[in-house]
Amino acid sequence: ANESGAAVVNDSVKTTDGRHVEVAANIGQPAELEPAAKRGADGVGLYRTEFLFLDRETPPSEDEQYEAIRQALDTFPDGRVVVRTLDIGGDKRIPYLDLPDEENPFLGERGIRRSLAPDSDLFATQLRALLRAAADGAGDLAIMFPLVATIEELDAALDALEAAAGLDDYDADAVDPEVGVMIETPSAAFMADELAARVDFLSIGTNDLTQYVMAADRENERVGDLHDPTHPGVLRAIQQTVTAAHAEDIWVGMCGEMAGDPDLTELLVGLGLDELSMSAVTIPEVKTAVSETSYSSASERGDRAQLAATRSEVHTTLDT
Ligand code: PEP
Ligand code: MG
Repeated sequence: ANESGAAVVNDSVKTTDGRHVEVAANIGQPAELEPAAKRGADGVGLYRTEFLFLDRETPPSEDEQYEAIRQALDTFPDGRVVVRTLDIGGDKRIPYLDLPDEENPFLGERGIRRSLAPDSDLFATQLRALLRAAADGAGDLAIMFPLVATIEELDAALDALEAAAGLDDYDADAVDPEVGVMIETPSAAFMADELAARVDFLSIGTNDLTQYVMAADRENERVGDLHDPTHPGVLRAIQQTVTAAHAEDIWVGMCGEMAGDPDLTELLVGLGLDELSMSAVTIPEVKTAVSETSYSSASERGDRAQLAATRSEVHTTLDT
């Protein structure tokens, strides 16, 4: 048992009626890898690569990035490691990168927008490091792009990945990592069908998705009530994303804070999420919750929840 009292479950988990749900870890520092494995993570569902760029004077070299990703892949030899490309801008500032001053940074050049900016070669370096690590590391690498809003951005990111693969002297076909996008903007949720047709997976970032769907700053407590993913507007965005992914036969995960709330596990399983990724502390509880959930009744509950008109109706649905 861990500090929350839930037993560590090392095997992958299924609902009582046999639906497999992947339970993975969100990682923000290399030191979190081992503890996540010990808590029973099936893999890494979100590796936040920003840490590599913090507390230093210059960007990390390709080799430094390679080593960090390699370590993650070797910690989960039988699992998948979803590495998110650099997600800076917004509230995440890096002094030496000299990012533009913006009046509304959360609506500015953040996430994939920054990676695709013409004045930056950070993206190409990072992609090369990722591909080299995928070729040498034990686990399966997946590459994920943050804050995508348009198909054009995805196409540009895929072009950059192809160019990075072409630059290396290894067999690009043999490496072939899964590629996915985060669903964090209303546009991405509305366009989930077109995105799903072009990638191997979608992962819902509910921290930002809630912020943008509800127009409520994720850091501002005065609007904390609005920044709640159980508002039906957010649930409908989630539902639409899951439906779009499954129509294209690809998997869909969630890596925002919502995924780690054991009180919401039944709802999320019911909405059809294939993977839940969270900070490692809650993994044992969420695995236990999945194993106690019946997918067929959860899915009826999920249907009712996303038809609710208000957040309180959603919660009534969850409690009955
Ligand atoms: C999210 O937005 O839900 C997410 C997982 O990304 P981050 O919290 O790093 O912005
Ligand atoms: Mg985000």
